[in-house]
Amino acid sequence: MFTGSQEIENGWVLARDGMIAEVGSGPHPPADEVVNEPNCVAMPGLVNAHDHMYQWATRGYVPDGTLFEWLRALYPVWARIDAETVRVAARAAMARLLLCGCTLSTDHHYVFPHGRPGIFEALVDVASELGLRFHPSRGSMSLGESKGGLPPDSVVEDEEAILAHTEEMIGRHHDPRPGSMCRVVVAPCSPFSVTPELMRDSAALARRHGVRLHTHLAETIDEERFCIERFGRRPVELMEDLGWTGDDVWYAHGIHLNDAEVDRIAEVKTGIAHCPSSNMRLGAGACRVEDLLRAGARVGLGVDGSASNEDANIAMEAHQALLLARVRATSPQALDARGAWHLATRGGAECLGRDDCGRLEPGQCADIACFRIDDLAHAGIEDRVAALALAPPSRAQTVVVNGRVVVRDGRLLTGDEDQIAREIAATSARLNPTKSSAAP
Ligand SMILES: [Zn+2]
Repeated sequence: MFTGSQEIENGWVLARDGMIAEVGSGPHPPADEVVNEPNCVAMPGLVNAHDHMYQWATRGYVPDGTLFEWLRALYPVWARIDAETVRVAARAAMARLLLCGCTLSTDHHYVFPHGRPGIFEALVDVASELGLRFHPSRGSMSLGESKGGLPPDSVVEDEEAILAHTEEMIGRHHDPRPGSMCRVVVAPCSPFSVTPELMRDSAALARRHGVRLHTHLAETIDEERFCIERFGRRPVELMEDLGWTGDDVWYAHGIHLNDAEVDRIAEVKTGIAHCPSSNMRLGAGACRVEDLLRAGARVGLGVDGSASNEDANIAMEAHQALLLARVRATSPQALDARGAWHLATRGGAECLGRDDCGRLEPGQCADIACFRIDDLAHAGIEDRVAALALAPPSRAQTVVVNGRVVVRDGRLLTGDEDQIAREIAATSARLNPTKSSAAP
């Protein structure tokens, strides 16, 4: 067992009422339900700090484009989504996350086409149905092409409507208590798709309700150029001006940061969700993970939207983070396996503001992922914690969320994986403009 800080031979975890009551080694204490996995390493459940689950229905588009090229091609496809599309896509995304050992995930949903109600509720419902601990972000876009933004006007919303709906979703779904299964986040999409006013108003709204703030930042050089040309500020400077720094904020990506910005982000305790697969897929650049960690910053991992990753495996992101940090630094010491698992667990939990997740310790949420080390990929490797980072598992053996077993023997217990796959195939085909002319 790897608790996050300790490695315990023949370890056990005793859960009660969704929380970890005791951790130990040797013979386990009596319990109503026992899950015995002698051929596994048990770890804290993995944490996904950045995602766009609806994108599971639009994977594989623009496989060789930059972020802006990829976005411009996808916005018109995303304009066709509705609550049912999001429900099917989220079911696929969350099923895959759970099967890969993720127990706590955010989702950054920012496409709300006019006249299509129930999208945010669909996300919350599916998380509850599959048993995932969930931090849904009410994202938004308000700066359309006609006002100098990147997205077409057809996918942007009125700012007052955004703020009113965000407040309604906080009132209806946000649970601030320890052990919470659902916390709402306020998340305007990016500096190139919302106005500075909406950023400022969103921060004020979030702080009034004590909820967290999330947005994309410093992902590409195109974004940096946009901010300098339009606002005369680098992305991090712009966020400072708009009140978007502090320990209640985390950014996705944080790639193009100068030395002063790395230090500043660490100083104000703003989190960074590093998304290595997406960043490599879009050729966006490599996050300065080792510099951020050295400066004391909070860094977690995200799969990012499934349309710029095509998968949702946090163990794979830990593997990619380890390799990418070494490529960037031309040094194998840049990030080790235990450091990569820290990002995938406690680092992500810190981004999401969860001091009750990310470790296998008494008082923490009973969120546990067990990965086999007797299979062909891992058998015979002595350092098991390193083995699982260097050869990332394609799925977990057992996954427990809130004390409930949701994956056993590598199979999802809360949904039918094959049916979820069939439904996402049908929904993806229906959304694809080259395959169907009918709106979904
Ligand atoms: Zn993203």
